[in-house]
Amino acid sequence: STPGGQRTCEEKIFVTVRVRPLSRKEQVANDQVAWDCKDDHTILSKKLTKERSTAAFNFDRVFNATCSTQDVYEEGAKDVALSALTGINATIFAYGQTSSGKTYTMRGITERALKDIYDHIRSTPERDFVLKFSALEIYNETVMDLLNRKSGPLRLLDDPEKEKGIIVEKLVEEIAKDSLHLRSLVDICEAQRQVGETALNNTSSRSHQIIRLTVESSLRESSGHVKSYVANLNLVDLAGSERSSQTIVRGLRLKEGSHINRSLLTLTTVIRKLSEGKKSAHIPYRDSKLTRILQPSLGGNSRTAIICTMSPALSHLEQSRNTLSFASRAK
Ligand code: ADP
Ligand code: MG
Repeated sequence: STPGGQRTCEEKIFVTVRVRPLSRKEQVANDQVAWDCKDDHTILSKKLTKERSTAAFNFDRVFNATCSTQDVYEEGAKDVALSALTGINATIFAYGQTSSGKTYTMRGITERALKDIYDHIRSTPERDFVLKFSALEIYNETVMDLLNRKSGPLRLLDDPEKEKGIIVEKLVEEIAKDSLHLRSLVDICEAQRQVGETALNNTSSRSHQIIRLTVESSLRESSGHVKSYVANLNLVDLAGSERSSQTIVRGLRLKEGSHINRSLLTLTTVIRKLSEGKKSAHIPYRDSKLTRILQPSLGGNSRTAIICTMSPALSHLEQSRNTLSFASRAK
């Protein structure tokens, strides 16, 4: 699929893979690069051990360690992000194990997407735009407001008018006045996330962060008719994928407080079922907080890009394989 078209039942989710460079720590430990990005679409593990033969994985795009975040944005996220300007709900995920580059990538994507949205607004004076910003974190199936952490756990309510699908009760929505204001809101979320991290001892590997921009616009036509759009852009930095590893999950029941992340596990099921594209399939959105919140942006009139991040290191070979097999099932 291309990031260009609208989602239909048949259409796939746009799936890309980003391999980061070896970290300093990995270099010092004499870790080896275990992966080969053969071309822009193909990645396979190098033959470093006497193990089974190396199978190649294919994706909409594979970004090797020399690719910049600008490349990842341009080719893996931009079109999906900008579709929110025309009334199509858009979601961009970063998926991968802890320390694979999810936050690094999403920060760059968020910055660029917000800039492009502002540029579009400035060059479209005939439409009136309103941007609303909100941000939340899901930790252990508890939803917290990143703009107002003091408000405590937030409840999810079904929208009585069914329009939004779900309402996050008391979630603060700030109207963004200009691009500077938007930047400062993103910075507040970053700082809030770090506060939570120190208090709860490295929660970022276990929590999901959603930055949401609601884009509303209207155009008064000469007939007096008002043509309006409203859509969400969701920018999602997921918990570390080691939290949903099938090997941990097998044989264990999902329960609160366990080391398994219900939201991440449910998301992988939802994505897999959506990409299978069976019209009659039951999609278990209601099984987790993350999928309930994102339901209107995953099903229906929506577009999704998943950026799977991975370390190139041999020491992470198994986790990287897990990431690629999730990515394969998503496309
Ligand atoms: P995650 O959010 O998946 O746990 P991070 O985004 O925090 O991982 O990345 C881990 C470390 O690797 C950070 O120090 C980050 O700056 C660095 N890093 C990640 N991706 C890249 C990249 N593509 N190029 C250079 N450094 C990167
Ligand atoms: Mg992170």
